[in-house]
Amino acid sequence: MNPASIIAKKRDLHELSRDETRFMVDGFTSGVIPDYQMSAWAMTILCRGMNDQETADLTDAMLASGTRLTRPTERPRVDKHSTGGLGDKISLILAPLIACCDCDVPMLSGRGLGITGGTLDKLESYAGYDCFLSQSQIAAQLENIGCVITGTTDEIAPADRKLYALRDVTGTVPSIPLITASIMSKKLAATLDALVLDVKFGSGAFMPGLSDARQLAHSLCTTGLRMGVTTRALLTDMNQPLGRMVGNACEANEAVEVLQGGGPSDVRKLALRLSSELLLAIGRFDSLPLATQALAEVLHSGRAYERFASMVTSQGGTFADRLPTAQPFELHSPRDGWIDRLDGQIIGQTVIGLGGGRQRLNDAIDPTVGLEMLVRIGQRVDRGQPLIRILARSPKDAQAAQRALLAGIALSPEPVAALPLIVES
Ligand code: URA
Repeated sequence: MNPASIIAKKRDLHELSRDETRFMVDGFTSGVIPDYQMSAWAMTILCRGMNDQETADLTDAMLASGTRLTRPTERPRVDKHSTGGLGDKISLILAPLIACCDCDVPMLSGRGLGITGGTLDKLESYAGYDCFLSQSQIAAQLENIGCVITGTTDEIAPADRKLYALRDVTGTVPSIPLITASIMSKKLAATLDALVLDVKFGSGAFMPGLSDARQLAHSLCTTGLRMGVTTRALLTDMNQPLGRMVGNACEANEAVEVLQGGGPSDVRKLALRLSSELLLAIGRFDSLPLATQALAEVLHSGRAYERFASMVTSQGGTFADRLPTAQPFELHSPRDGWIDRLDGQIIGQTVIGLGGGRQRLNDAIDPTVGLEMLVRIGQRVDRGQPLIRILARSPKDAQAAQRALLAGIALSPEPVAALPLIVES
């Protein structure tokens, strides 16, 4: 086998064999296949696509480039993945909630990517929280607490780390087979029984279009099933942030509110639905209403809240019900109308500008800053009414945020209908 002929085969629209795909991934990971050939291969995949079998083979090859987590208990093992969005703090709720249902949740998570926040960044708002657990620490915490949220280790899917860095600089990120293999190789390394995917679309999502998001959801589910893991997906609306808070400490506080039985209804609804899908997937319940009712009772009991506090403490964090947030400033409505658009790109960039996300890879994040959305799409507002509370380090930062946010808010003179949160399942 040689890389040039495998690149040409894909270019000429032929199906690649499992061995050819493995040859490319192994050769690249070990340094035998150079970046220029791997870039060309990634570009042919982007242009020509891959069928379901090829995508599963690519996922398998990337998974096999590293190790898998061990299973320290007999309990069912499940996980959730979100394609990312603004205000998405569901992992902080779902992991302890599901752990209370006698399942293990070994969640290998990421940092903020582009405008979307990262679960690890939110958890690092608790001073001392350790996101670099070793495999043996992960196993020990699963045994004791049933959930862990940590970063992927160097041993998990090293092919993905190397290939993602190359895709990032060669215009080959937006390819459904490449995205599928990248996400699933990392998730399946946790040796799961079931996986639920929250595939988001809209102005604050990685894939803005509903039809692209639908294709990605199909590809992720098909690949999971081909690899022996029960995989389900929801398509959810990200044309406005999830919940009220967008930032780090403020989002952790909002997750705690939900774990204490309160919090915004959309966050609670999505956390319960995604968790229910997992309990259905492992056969714990026969119907969605029964699973949801059982999970709502766990939330109400405070057990999931206690489990979350234990997880944070076990990972070295100093848990508090309410983490401190920066000084609040308000953005007021310039006129009467109905909220028509809350532009996700502008909201995300504003949080980064306040210091709540990264402009460059190694930038430090200020956990205290962020935004509190006081209105939702479709809501009627009056001139002068507060629309967004800006949590900022200084009046100057707040003024810059106010100017930026005004460009991202559209008001309609007519009533506007918002999309439902869960659009398809
Ligand atoms: N997230 C990933 O982990 N990989 C991709 O390719 C895109 C988004």
